[in-house]
Amino acid sequence: MKNHKTPTGHNVHAHLSDTIYAALKRHCQHTSETIDHVIQRTLADALDIEHHTMYQVSTSGALVQGVYQGCVTVGDLKNHGDFGLGTYDSLDGEGLMLDGRIWQALSSGQVVEPPDSATAPFWVCTNFEADKTVTLDSVTSWDNLLTQLDDMRTSDNLFVAFRVDGVFDTIDYRIACKADYGVDLVTATRDQPEFTFKNCQGTLMGFWAPNYARTFNIPGYHLHLLSADHQHGGHVLGIKGSKLKVQVMNVQNVVMALPETPAFLSADLSGDPAEALGQADNPR
Ligand SMILES: [Zn+2]
Repeated sequence: MKNHKTPTGHNVHAHLSDTIYAALKRHCQHTSETIDHVIQRTLADALDIEHHTMYQVSTSGALVQGVYQGCVTVGDLKNHGDFGLGTYDSLDGEGLMLDGRIWQALSSGQVVEPPDSATAPFWVCTNFEADKTVTLDSVTSWDNLLTQLDDMRTSDNLFVAFRVDGVFDTIDYRIACKADYGVDLVTATRDQPEFTFKNCQGTLMGFWAPNYARTFNIPGYHLHLLSADHQHGGHVLGIKGSKLKVQVMNVQNVVMALPETPAFLSADLSGDPAEALGQADNPR
């Protein structure tokens, strides 16, 4: 086995049997997971690494203060999870992480796969592994979805990751616009574009965070959309659908990586950002 270190991990040249290699290729074709991701995930499982761990970069309080300077690369994020959400340097759109790949929903509505060198100022991810799977017969609104997801949580004091798959009859979402560093989040998101999409096959990915996490995460539910064709996505505001598959993962560990950028080090993070986060979500 040969090994050399790359800026965001290691390239390993390992010998696989024909049988394993054929099965791996079949799996990747079937799921569109990358080979890197399958190997990373199965090894993490076998070695019991970062099990049920939520990895977070920076804090929601810093984002509210306009600390939009990217401090972690997309390539590095892939070493800490395969599922999650965030935003990009200069608040340039919404971050979507699913099955080990990362996308960027731009305020034009376009979805692109950013290079591993792209940077993020805020991100939350995990290696998703469902503890429980439930099918929701009918979802009539965003509030109705949240009420049904509430029933799947066992405590108000633990973080939970949610993955929702299906065909959404209607899905409403918004995408943050690029903003200058230091412009507060409420101002930056005042004119963010909103989109409505009918009959959208796709996945919602995100987290529920306890109220006590209000100074560093986003209390309550925070879900992002990626359509199955990877052409649409954003921060979800509304939903209707039926026969939606919900997978739930209880988070057991939280790891926070705090930026050492001058902007983060000098920001005033003593306030409570929850109200500003609520306003940024529903600007009208
Ligand atoms: Zn969001």
